[in-house]
This record gives sequence, C-alpha cells and structure tokens, in this order.
Amino acid sequence: VTRAAGTAGRVREALARAVGDHIVAAGERGHLRDATETRGIAGRADAVALPSTTEEVAAVVRWCYANGLPVVPRGGGTGFAGGAVPVDGGVVVGLERMTRVRAFEPLRWRVQVEAGMPTAALRRRVRESGLVFPPDPGAAESSQIGGNVATNAGGPHAFKYGATGAWVTGLEAVVPPGDVIAVGGPVRKDVAGYDLVHLLVGSEGTLGIVTAAWLRLIPAPEAAFPVVGVYRDAPAGCRAIELAMASGIVPAAIEYLDAGTLARAGAAYPWALPAGAGFMVIAEADGSAAEAEAGRRELRAALAEDAVSVEAPARPEAIERLWQWRDGVSLAVTASCGGKVSEDVAVPVEALGEAIERTVAIGREHGVTGLSWGHAGDGNLHCSFLLDPGVPAELERARAAAHAVFDLALALGGTVTGEHGIGVVKNGQLRRQWPARAVDLHRAVKHAFDPQNLMNPGKKLP
Ligand SMILES: Cc1cc2nc3c(=O)[nH]c(=O)nc-3n(C[C@H](O)[C@H](O)[C@H](O)COP(=O)(O)OP(=O)(O)OC[C@H]3O[C@@H](n4cnc5c(N)ncnc54)[C@H](O)[C@@H]3O)c2cc1C
Repeated sequence: VTRAAGTAGRVREALARAVGDHIVAAGERGHLRDATETRGIAGRADAVALPSTTEEVAAVVRWCYANGLPVVPRGGGTGFAGGAVPVDGGVVVGLERMTRVRAFEPLRWRVQVEAGMPTAALRRRVRESGLVFPPDPGAAESSQIGGNVATNAGGPHAFKYGATGAWVTGLEAVVPPGDVIAVGGPVRKDVAGYDLVHLLVGSEGTLGIVTAAWLRLIPAPEAAFPVVGVYRDAPAGCRAIELAMASGIVPAAIEYLDAGTLARAGAAYPWALPAGAGFMVIAEADGSAAEAEAGRRELRAALAEDAVSVEAPARPEAIERLWQWRDGVSLAVTASCGGKVSEDVAVPVEALGEAIERTVAIGREHGVTGLSWGHAGDGNLHCSFLLDPGVPAELERARAAAHAVFDLALALGGTVTGEHGIGVVKNGQLRRQWPARAVDLHRAVKHAFDPQNLMNPGKKLP
C-alpha cells in the first residue's frame, strides 16, 4: 500500500489486516486536530491506530515504515504547535489506550507509567501516597505523560521544579523502522551513552513514539501559599518579580498577567480586581508548614512594595480556586474573541518587561490586540494576538504579529518556543536561532533515527 496507490479506506483495510482489526479506529473524528484548531490548522488521516501495548505500537510503525506511510504520534491533542495534527495524511497513532501503571514504588519515589496516562490522573495517583509529580501544564486533565515528554512540557511550577524532562529517568520507545528501545530506567544517574532519554524528551514525535516512562517523584510539600500582587502597569509588576526573586526564598512559581489579559480573563478572578489593575503577579511559597508560612511572609513583603493590592489566601479552597482560574486564562482569552494566535517565546528574565510591552505594540502595529501572560520566573511569555476566526484577514494579521514576536525574542537573546515546541506553526524558525552547524546536527539526529522521514514528517523543521 503506498499513499499514491491507496485511498484512506484501502489504507485502513490493509493496516487492519496487518496488525489486527481491534487496533484500527472506526472513525477519525477527534484525532485530526489539536489546540491550534482556532488558528485554522486541521489535518486528514489515512487511518487512526489505537494500540494498547508496546508490541502493537511497534507493529503499526513497522507496517507504516514498510509501506512508506507517515506516522503521527498523538497524546491528548492539547498541543499548541500543531504537532499531533496529521497535516499530510498518514497513520495517527493515539496512545489513549496505554494508561497502565507498570510500577509504583512510593518508598523509592518512582513510578513507571505508559505514555497514554493523563497527566492529572498520574498526579492524583501519586498524591494519594504523599508524593508529587511536579510538572503541571495547564491542560493536565487531557494531556498525557507521553505528550508531556514529547514536548518537555512546563507549567507554573517549572520555575522551582523544572519541566517534564527533569523528572524522566528512563523511556521505552518505538523507533523506526519499528524497534522497541528502553533507555535509562529506575536508576537515577546514568551517563553510559549519549543521553538518548533527553534527546527523545522534547522531540515532538519526530524521532519515535514514547510508550512508557520512568518518572522521579518527591514527597509533596506540606503546604503551598500563593501571594497575588496587582500593579498599575507592567514596569511596576516586573520590578515586583525581581524583588520576589531577590527575596531569599525559592518561589515555587512566579506567574504574570498583563493588562489586556486581565481585561479578558479578570471577570472570573476569585477576588474583585481593584480599580487601576494593569498587571498581576502570582508567586507561591511551598515547603514544610513553617517554611511555606515564612516564604509567604517574604513574598508578601516583596510583592507589596509597589502594589495596588495584595492577596495572600490561606484556605485550601481559595488557593484551589486561584490556580483553577489561572489554568483557565488561555481558554478565557480565546472565548473573549473566538480565536487567537499565541506563541510561547522565552527571554532572559531581565528582558521580560520589554518583551511584554513590545508585544502590545506589535499587536497595535499589525491592527490586532496583542497581550500576554505566562511563567514570569522562567521569562516565558504566551504572546497572544486576538482574532475573529470568521475574518481571514485578521488571522493573517495575527500570524504576521506572531512572526514579529519571534524576531523580538531572538533580538532579546531568547528562544522562539519555551514550552510548546516547533510543531508545524514554528517551522523554519530554529535556523534563525541556532548556528548553521548546530542546525546540521539537528538534521543529522533526525536522519539517524528516521532515515525515511516518516516519523511525524513536516514537524520541528529547522
Ligand atoms: C489550556 C491549555 C494550557 C496549556 N498550558 C501549558 C503549560 O502550562 N505548559 C506547557 O508546556 N504546555 C501547556 N499547554 C500545551 C500542551 O498541554 C502541552 O504541550 C502538552 O504537553 C501536550 O500533551 P498532549 O498529550 O496533549 O500532546 P499532543 O498535543 O497530542 O502532542 C504534542 C506533540 O507530542 C507528540 N506526542 C504526543 N504523544 C507522544 C508520544 N507518546 N510519543 C511521541 N510523541 C508524542 C505529538 O506528535 C506532538 O508533536 C497547554 C495547552 C492548553 C490547551
């Protein structure tokens, strides 16, 4: 079966004959798009495979490789870069049936799970034993551990605890032409070979399909207290961020929201926003009850200096409501207008203020509303340009504005993507960020894993 020879129906039948009916999904709906849908990215697949074992994943990849068909790994489809979208057909391999916990050893602070385990389900499972898996990307109920590994997902608490890759000690993966490899494992240190584990981390499904991961855990902090400072403008807020970082404690998270974001997402903020709210900083202190309380006092003092108002909730329900609201900011901003083009550039933290103000100006220059929020401590912005999806000219203007944000990030010594990845939406940007030799090595790594360029082709291109 070649793509030229076969219709989608014929591909599906041939795949089902080769690997078994039970693996091939009856329909494709729901497996053709991700969170980039509102910016117009959609795909078509020749077939969707839903394997439930590593051997079944390997059989699908082997068949695709033998028949020259692209393989598109898919987790929860929450990605913001179009990475899981089958932009040029092929077989989508959804990992949602692979949700088993293969090993959970709470006393040794480790767990091995299959790739399709939803992020929030894992976090809840280990929490029952007093442990925490710290990565907390915002769509955790839907995203999967495999998708988090493939994008090296971050989140608010990556500031103190690091992104997903910092918690991965071993991976099982299917690599072209359909071989199962296991690299790393429960062992916490391993420098025997090149670091293939962390080459697969962040590879966006272009090198292989992650089927299981060994993850480190830590005892959950006894308490965590957020402090929220509201400021008149971005310069005052950015000064507060610097003061929080100089406060002598290691905040677990330092988040920000600019004026435009507050205007669109502020209605659901758990407390009334004060008049003149032009910027918000959310910092959190955690640790033992005494440490978290002391940290909270330090953060409160640091954030209060130029603030219009400060909130420091202590009741668990209030804290939960605050983080739930923060998790919903992206969706609230989208809902306020119908669509947005959002890019997750990162800059050195001292350039954050300039990047925030320039994002608003870039929007104005392109005739669209520009705003941002993000993980301030990591210098990671979600620069968003709002659009009405029914007006194609607005989508074009928003895309042009996003392109200007890439220029801005590079001029400030940053990166075109801090956590969402290149996917399809940032293809071509890496070679502007890296020297030519590094780009050659990037291509050589891809070729070494995937000589026929069938593993999520058209994604993460330099
Ligand atoms: C509301 C919202 C908030 C978000 N907040 C954050 C945030 O705070 N931090 C952050 O980093 N991201 C965030 N994201 C983006 C997204 O949730 C992450 O990128 C997440 O890690 C994607 O996981 P997924 O399972 O949905 O992967 P998908 O979207 O299905 O896939 C993402 C990429 O990974 C590849 N992939 C998926 N599974 C595998 C696998 N098993 N093996 C190999 N490749 C695979 C795909 O091919 C694709 O290239 C947010 C998204 C939304 C919608």
